[in-house]
Formats: sequence, C-alpha cells, structure tokens
Amino acid sequence: MEQIPILELRGVSKYFGDTCALYDINLAIENGEFITLLGPSGCGKTTILRILSGFERASEGDVLLNGNKINAMPPEDRQVNTVFQNYALFPHMTVAQNVGFGLKMQKYANSRIAERVEEVLKRVHLEGLAERMPSQLSGGQQQRVAIARAIINNPLVLLLDEPFSALDFKLRKQMQLEIKHLQRQLGITFVFVTHDQEEAFAMSDRVVIMNEGSIEQIGSSQEIYEEPKNLFVARFVGEINVLEGTVTSVNSGGGLKADVEGVSFNLKARGEFTWGEKVKVLLRPEDLRIYTLPEQTLNPPFFMGRIDESVYKGATVDIMLTLDNGKQLQAAEFFNEDDEDIVYRPGERVQVTWVEGWEVVLGEEDE
Ligand code: ADP
Repeated sequence: MEQIPILELRGVSKYFGDTCALYDINLAIENGEFITLLGPSGCGKTTILRILSGFERASEGDVLLNGNKINAMPPEDRQVNTVFQNYALFPHMTVAQNVGFGLKMQKYANSRIAERVEEVLKRVHLEGLAERMPSQLSGGQQQRVAIARAIINNPLVLLLDEPFSALDFKLRKQMQLEIKHLQRQLGITFVFVTHDQEEAFAMSDRVVIMNEGSIEQIGSSQEIYEEPKNLFVARFVGEINVLEGTVTSVNSGGGLKADVEGVSFNLKARGEFTWGEKVKVLLRPEDLRIYTLPEQTLNPPFFMGRIDESVYKGATVDIMLTLDNGKQLQAAEFFNEDDEDIVYRPGERVQVTWVEGWEVVLGEEDE
C-alpha cells in the first residue's frame, strides 16, 4: 500500500497583490524524509514554508496533512513547527524557559516540563546550559536552543528556514551534520530551506529546485546533479559546460549522432529528438578528459584546443581551455600525487573529449 504523504501541496498558487510568489506548486512530502527547497533568493521558498506552517494561506490550491485538507487550520493546531532564521529566542528567558515555553503555554505541569526540557536539551547536546541566557551562548548554541524549542512537543514536521545563515563556514558544516543526525534519530520529517547548493546536497534525501515561484525539478542530490532537466537546474547546481550541437541522425535504439561544436559525436539521449534539431550538450568540468600532445593521440571524436590556465586547488586541478572553434570550457581533474605533470602550461595544445555517456542532452524546449 502506498503511504499517504505527511504534507502535500496540490496546485498551490500564492499572490501578494500583483506579485505571483508561487504558481501551481505540486509537492508531496513523504513521512520521515529530509527534503530541501533550494533556489535563488525570491523564488518562493519561504512562502512555501509559511503556507505549510499556516502563517500564510494559499490563494489557490490545497494543503494536506496526513491526507486531510488543512487550508484554513491555524498554525498552532498543525503539529508543524518552524525554526526561524534569526532563532527568535526570548532574550529575557533562560535556555530552559525558552525551550519549555510552548509546553507552559499548553499548561503542562512544571515537573513534566522540566523533565521534557532536560530530554530535548540532551538531544541537542546542550545539557548543562539550561540556566544560561541566550546572550551567553554562541551562535551554534542559540541555533540548538531554537531547534530544541521546536521539537519539544513532538511535531510531525519540522520546517527550517535558512537556519545556518548567521553561522561561519566551519560551524555551518558542523551544524549540517548535527541536524542530519538529529533528523535520523528523531525520525521526524524535516523541510529545510536554503539557497546553498552544497548544504542542500549534503543534508537531503530529496531536493526541490525552485525558480520564480515554480518547481523546476525534484530528485535526489545525485539525480539533480547528474540528470538536470533543464539549463536552469544544470547551472544552479555546480559548474557546467554547455556545448552547442545539431542532430545529424537518430538511431532507433534511442542514441543520437550530433555535430557538437563542429565535431561529430554519438550521444546518449533520454528524450525524443529529431533530425536537424538544435541541442545543448551539458558536461560537468569533471566529465571532461584532457590529453596533452604529442604523447597521446586519441581515436576520434575529440576536440582540439589550447590550455588557457590551470590552477592547483589541492584535491583537484581546475583547467580553463579554449577549443579551436573559440569555445571556452572548464575542466577539473583529481590531483594524483604520482602524476607530477598534471598542471598544464598555458598555451599547451590538448585533445579534449569526455567520458562517454556522461553527457546530458537537452532539446530546445528544455531551456
Ligand atoms: P525566498 O524565500 O525564496 O527568498 P520568498 O518566498 O520570501 O522567496 O518570496 C517570494 C516572492 O514573494 C518574492 O518576490 C517576494 O518579494 C514576494 N513576497 C513574499 N512575501 C511577501 C509579502 N508579505 N508581501 C508582498 N510580497 C511578498
């Protein structure tokens, strides 16, 4: 039997006056998953969270919790809690008072509140700091208090809106691991918002790529990175080379032959293509293979080009090169200590190809 999504948006649109913040959003969130909304600033991520939490109402469409319509249900009845970007801690209350606040409002007995506060502080590794004031905590600790406060009443879903934006790089990385770990332990569904691709990939079971109020693609980090559905997704997650091509033949088996930047290649194609169609061939920098002349002479097809620059980055060497037709490409090779000569010299002549089958081919309508 198929599980009912814990939260679902069906045909949700949201207008603020003339501004369309969301358009026809369909999103089913599975129970227990860690799902991340990723997209540039202003694409509608926070508006989705606010509709899920009940702080905002959809202009059109339905919100379902466990299969039941909750369009008009107030936030406090939803069992959906939010961790805000600025933590929103009460400055005049101790850590314990902040964390227990929700239960106090619900008139729980003081002894029960104290017990529960202790439990959740332990969960977020803050035992011993219960009597501190928020101003006496580091950014990471304040973040944990905000999370403890949001999980104290066992919500079904936790919404996290850019929770690490105030933290420095190292702490951010550490908190990412902690939150992922916590989510696994608790088994609660987490809906996370970020504009940081690495953060999204590191934490999520599924990533939702958003752009201008619409969903562009939903998938695992690997699917999004390796099989982007369009140029927006491809460009938003990591570096990408976009080569121009024209289909010269279509095989019955699904493969294509195309003239790519003036050279004929066989391509792996997923969609339907027709003879003469213009295509874009997408290649990640690490998909490219570079061979220096004269040591290597590849069998065709390959491009001829010239190294512009090669930069040692520790784990990788980043390479900028220009093909003979003027097209500029970025490549990346993993640095191998046995290979002394991996840093190329500017001006060096090279043969360029890619790992067969790693290309993504988009037709004109996928742009
Ligand atoms: P994100 O979280 O991805 O940065 P938001 O959901 O905050 O994006 O915003 C989406 C769009 O809706 C933006 O154009 C924003 O200006 C607009 N918007 C959001 N909230 C309001 C509001 N209360 N009033 C008017 N416009 C809003």
